[in-house]
Amino acid sequence: MGESNCIFCQIVDGEIPSHTVYEDDAVMAFLDANPLAEGHTLIIPKDHYSTMDEMPDAVGAAIGRALTQLAPVVENSVGANASTIGINNGEDAGQEIPHVHAHVIPRTPDDHGGSIHSIFGGTPEIGDDELTELAQDIETRI
Ligand code: AMP
Ligand code: ZN
Repeated sequence: MGESNCIFCQIVDGEIPSHTVYEDDAVMAFLDANPLAEGHTLIIPKDHYSTMDEMPDAVGAAIGRALTQLAPVVENSVGANASTIGINNGEDAGQEIPHVHAHVIPRTPDDHGGSIHSIFGGTPEIGDDELTELAQDIETRI
């Protein structure tokens, strides 16, 4: 039983219908109900975690494995040779459903979409010294 007020837990529990394409012990994948492109697929952990940092390593590995296996299959199913794969990880990043989900969006040359870089208006000025300091700080936090 998942979170009763979570739409994706309700999909896992079969209380809400979905166009499921894959399921194993830890992971489920289904078509997005409002696809950005034909074949737009969501991959979710079956257990409820709001954001990536809440997921145990094994669940993260299962999501990664499913992404690796499913992305090329999803692409092939709609005749695409590429996909944009992304996770809105937290409300500030645009996550609307607080149950971790990875988007696999098939891409074609004429779809008028951009790269992940196009989400942002530009690049902030960050000097090399600052990058060095930041890298060291992140490294020591891991
Ligand atoms: P996000 O902004 O990353 O939280 O994206 C949530 C995604 O879930 C959107 O792309 C929605 O179209 C999709 N979505 C919402 N409800 C459903 C549903 N019942 N079945 C499939 N996809 C859904
Ligand atoms: Zn949930």
